[in-house]
Amino acid sequence: MAAPPRAESLVLLERFVTALKAKGVVTEAEIETQITRTDRASPEIGARMVARAWTDPAYRALLLSNGSAAAEAEGVSMAGMPPLGVLEDTETLHHLVVCTLCSCYPRAVLGYPPHWYKSAAYRARAVRDPRGVLAEWGTVLPAGMEVRVVDSTADYRWMVLPRRPAGTEGWDAQRLAAIVTRDHLVGVALPRTP
Ligand code: FE
Repeated sequence: MAAPPRAESLVLLERFVTALKAKGVVTEAEIETQITRTDRASPEIGARMVARAWTDPAYRALLLSNGSAAAEAEGVSMAGMPPLGVLEDTETLHHLVVCTLCSCYPRAVLGYPPHWYKSAAYRARAVRDPRGVLAEWGTVLPAGMEVRVVDSTADYRWMVLPRRPAGTEGWDAQRLAAIVTRDHLVGVALPRTP
């Protein structure tokens, strides 16, 4: 009995990887390392970085000036990864991250991107109507607040440093990290006290 037909995308991927390996662009071991690294990553890493920045001014400065170094300081290997940039939300500025082209995402610190992040609808609408997209997430910003949409690319991956919510005074980093989710790090939602 013949094997069932394989999805065209899988055949294409296999041929592409075979060609990259044949040309010495990438080795099987490098591909394996990358997959393992992303499998192990999760938004909890990004949440930990945000919570640390909320409680440690020196780490906050590092995070904002060199996200990759800040990730390394949290034990994440950034070798061979595109640089990580961190966008600081303020009282007057909110950031929303999108990859308009495909699905570029800071996988080293957030893990795999959610399906909606890769959807054509999010990629187009985040740029055209960011406030509309945010409203659908239940995120309503004050009228005077500027919304800046930032494009993650193959060259630079972005993560948001949201504002620390009121009512968390005196919380330690571990407790703070527990209220930070992936959606906050992309900028579609805002952390709040439970
Ligand atoms: Fe992309």
